Amino acid sequence: MALSENSEVLTDCLDPAGHERRTKIIATLGPATNTPEIVEALVRAGLDVARINMSHATPDATRNLVTLVREAADKCQRRVGILMDLQGPSIRTGELPTSLNLKPGDRIALTVRGEKPVEQRSVDVNYDQLVDDIHIGDTVVVDNGMIQLRVLEKRHNQLTCEVLTEGVLGSRRHINLPGVRVNLPALTEKDISDVELGIELGVDFIAMSFCREAADVMRLKAILEYRKASQHVIAKLEDQEGIRNVSAIIDAADGIMVARGDLGMECPFEELPIIQRRVVKQCVTRGKPVIVATHMLESMIESPSPTRAEITDVSNAVFEQADAIMLSGETSVGKYPVKCVEIMDRIARRTERSGGANYAELARMNSLGAKMVKSAAVLSKEICADALIVFTRKGSMARNAAWLRPLHSHLYAFTDNPKLLNQLTLHWGISPFLIEFGENPETNVGRAVKVLRERGLIRSGSNIVAVTEVDVAGRLIDTILMERIE
Ligand code: PEP
Repeated sequence: MALSENSEVLTDCLDPAGHERRTKIIATLGPATNTPEIVEALVRAGLDVARINMSHATPDATRNLVTLVREAADKCQRRVGILMDLQGPSIRTGELPTSLNLKPGDRIALTVRGEKPVEQRSVDVNYDQLVDDIHIGDTVVVDNGMIQLRVLEKRHNQLTCEVLTEGVLGSRRHINLPGVRVNLPALTEKDISDVELGIELGVDFIAMSFCREAADVMRLKAILEYRKASQHVIAKLEDQEGIRNVSAIIDAADGIMVARGDLGMECPFEELPIIQRRVVKQCVTRGKPVIVATHMLESMIESPSPTRAEITDVSNAVFEQADAIMLSGETSVGKYPVKCVEIMDRIARRTERSGGANYAELARMNSLGAKMVKSAAVLSKEICADALIVFTRKGSMARNAAWLRPLHSHLYAFTDNPKLLNQLTLHWGISPFLIEFGENPETNVGRAVKVLRERGLIRSGSNIVAVTEVDVAGRLIDTILMERIE
């Protein structure tokens, strides 16, 4: 089926001023955003999910951030999910007494297993099998691409490398080995203890770094299942192996993150936009939430306004209809964290009004529930409904609704499950609400309408479409209900 660009789709149905953003915004919390005032300002600016990066956050800092997010969300009466991002099997340089100034053509030794180097310029690396796994001629990327090295020689516990790009090498710098199958466990001991903390704190999502195959996801899911925990697992695609296994990983995980920071180091950079588009398309057509992450407004770490290229990058991810776009350093250590969320919000709203890639047109929706929601979405488009309402206990009705990317009507999901409530914050277009489900489905529709009216989201004259159940001679059957609000 050909994909149509749904140009200026909303102008048929909705006043642009009434347009609620569909693409969710995730912001990483850190030293720049660890006070109640700033977290509240982020939530008011439109934060949907707060990310805590366990590469940096201590357990105490994590507890504090979780409390700040919950308090701010309660104060602003908004749902905000919490995503704990595990450090994963990260390869790093060890301690250096002083930083090393490296120039192209210099030699540097990388040592493992406590080897004492012959060369003066050397640094230890925390990956014992480095020398076994790497080949002469391979590239070693240090400090997120700041320094590139080429392997010249392998000897016992030591690699001799040539410096390709100038840079200053400090202690504990991140290392990428593009194309090398790194033989580290998917979950380190630190990750497992962070997972325990995440369960204890009741975070909503756990992101698994360097997810290379579906079995990695299953390992984390097994831990959660054993602990009877309900956190959703987000698989971060960060290297070539993860990309090769993407289809099985999408099946296994509850959501995917296109982690462009490491991916950009691990893959040839010209592949990155193509990988992003393919992964987003696969996720959207298969109904799995997908996050586009890293460097979206990178210049705003220092600058009060984004570059033209960054604006276009954010807009492209929104146009592709990713569920969420993510801020990292921009909000964790940047100078303008709240402004970054405001700017993302503004770009997303405008881009959504121009339509989207509509990859969902390619979706094969086989379940009856999904077909039902699809019919309701068609109806809501026909009548320019102000609200498309679904009721959901386990989330599947809400996920089906988001899967369709219905740009024409606002999507409201009502649940009686508090755990699910925050997990719906990640899904494209869904505004989640908690209600108590009544004895009969008609009561639920009445309660949902009341909530939406009280919040000013619908008013007299609004059209609504709801997917619900009705009682027919004692039997509950699924139905689509259409109503004009009195
Ligand atoms: C990334 O690499 O893009 C990413 C999100 O992971 P991290 O920030 O944990 O390196």
